[in-house]
Amino acid sequence: MAQREGAGIRTRSTGVRGGTHEPIRTCIGCRTRTWASDLLRVVAEDGSRTVPDPRRRRPGRGAWLHPDTACLRSAERRRAFSRALRVQGQLDSTTVQAYVEQVAHEQADARVSRARQLKEAGRPVMNQP
Ligand SMILES: [Zn+2]
Repeated sequence: MAQREGAGIRTRSTGVRGGTHEPIRTCIGCRTRTWASDLLRVVAEDGSRTVPDPRRRRPGRGAWLHPDTACLRSAERRRAFSRALRVQGQLDSTTVQAYVEQVAHEQADARVSRARQLKEAGRPVMNQP
């Protein structure tokens, strides 16, 4: 079996995207099945809080979530973290929330700067005498 970067992640199910097999996971927020690379891995720390694991290196059970505040909120409402991570009681997801908000912010920034670049690229050069 061919080893690729990131091997060691347990692949319960895989799909094919771009010719390579990629794991498929379910977002605990909206329950959509999608590529693991589109989701954020979240793990429990100290049995009392959830922390983001974007590099997917932390040991133990992971929960998968779209890096999206709507998915995070619905996951919290349904206590999906406790269930997915097999933790009794309430989990503090402040760190995950901060991470998701930062990602959303960066994506918005990227959209804005891309739009600005396109606008500037399309502007005719008028500085010739
Ligand atoms: Zn989702």
